[in-house]
This record gives sequence, structure tokens and C-alpha cells, in this order.
Amino acid sequence: MAEPAPVSLLLATGNAGKIREFRALFAELPGLSLLTAADLAALPEVIEDGATFADNAIKKAAQIAEATGLLVLADDSGLEVDALGGEPGVHSARYAGQHGADEDNNEKLLQELAQVPDPQRTARYRVVLALADLRGPLGARVHVEDGVCEGSILRVRAGSGGFGYDPLFAPRGYACAMAELSPEAKNRISHRALASQKMRAFLATYLPTRLG
Ligand code: IMP
Repeated sequence: MAEPAPVSLLLATGNAGKIREFRALFAELPGLSLLTAADLAALPEVIEDGATFADNAIKKAAQIAEATGLLVLADDSGLEVDALGGEPGVHSARYAGQHGADEDNNEKLLQELAQVPDPQRTARYRVVLALADLRGPLGARVHVEDGVCEGSILRVRAGSGGFGYDPLFAPRGYACAMAELSPEAKNRISHRALASQKMRAFLATYLPTRLG
């Protein structure tokens, strides 16, 4: 009997760094083929005004699923710095004002933490992944998984891998910045990797119910 056609999973993010990582993290999942916004006509812009990562990820997944009718994976992620009361948090992408200006965000973070001693520079990356499938068994429900990567904020940028705050973020147990790790090494320990692992496990049981 012929194999069923793969199900398209739309990655609802325009962030090139995240897309690169998701492509690796969701590679070789049987029965799935990944799409990005570049494969479709324009997607609606979703206003990320939620108070939590989960609020934003769920809103994004639901609205893009509604607009496209596809199986959609959305995420919201960011950096929580203890000495800043959890900021930049949901504001991570636009911490220094302009959405996605990584260099400006890193500069602002260094300045905000200039007087903070090393033991108090603890931080974590957090991500929430949201899967929506309006026309499938999930219906109006959105399936959510999360991931956390603990670490601390360095005083000097290092490395050129990854994206965002990676030149300033030292994962716990590593004497280097996330940006100094290979893509494979980051994808073994990152918040996104941990959440993706859980979402892959969910998809492995969900997809057969969708096809059947
Ligand atoms: P959003 O999820 O698109 O709202 O933005 C997340 C922001 O958090 C990014 O623009 C980065 O500044 C930061 N961020 C999230 N994940 C990572 C990561 O893996 N490395 C570095 N920065 C990250």
C-alpha cells in the first residue's frame, strides 16, 4: 500500500535563527513536512501582547491556524534575568526598542547588569511551543509544551553561533557562551530543544489519530 502523503506543519515564526533550529529539531519526524511563512502567501501579523510566553504562543498558533487551515507550530520565547526581576521576559525581542535588533538588546542587557556581581547574574531561556490544528482532532484546543535552559549572563560577548542573547548567555555547567557551541551542541541543551523533544513525542502519537 502507498505511504500516506506527509502532513504539512507550518512553523509560525519569521525569526531565521529559530527556523534554523526548528528545522534541525523536527527533522526526520515520519509523516511530517515542514513549511515556513516563505512557502505561503502573506500570513496575518499576530500582535504579541500577552503577559506570558504561553499567552503569546497560543494566540499565535490559534490565529495562524485559523487563517491557513494548517497544522501550526508557534512559539514564544525569551530570556529571564533574575537581577532584573525576570525581564526582559516576553519583551526579549524588543528589549532595546526595535523588534529583533539583537546587538542593541545585548548592549542594553550589559548596561543594565554592569553593577551586578557574578553570583547574581543568573538567568534562563524559556520557551512555550503551541500546536494548533483546527481541522484535526485537536479542534479548538491548542497543545502546549515548554522548555527551560538555566544559565548566567557574561560580561563580554563571545562566539558567533546561535542568535539573540547567545553571545552573552552561558548555559549552566558550561564555561563558554551559548554562541560558542556548535548548532548540534546547542540543540542538545537549549530550551527550544527540550520543548521540541516533548512536542515530537506528542506528534508521534497525535499524527496517526489525524491520519486515521
Ligand atoms: P519571540 O519569541 O519571537 O517573541 O522572541 C524571542 C526573543 O528572545 C528573541 O528575539 C531573542 O532575543 C530571545 N531568544 C529566544 N530564544 C533564544 C535563544 O535560543 N537564543 C538567544 N536568544 C533567544
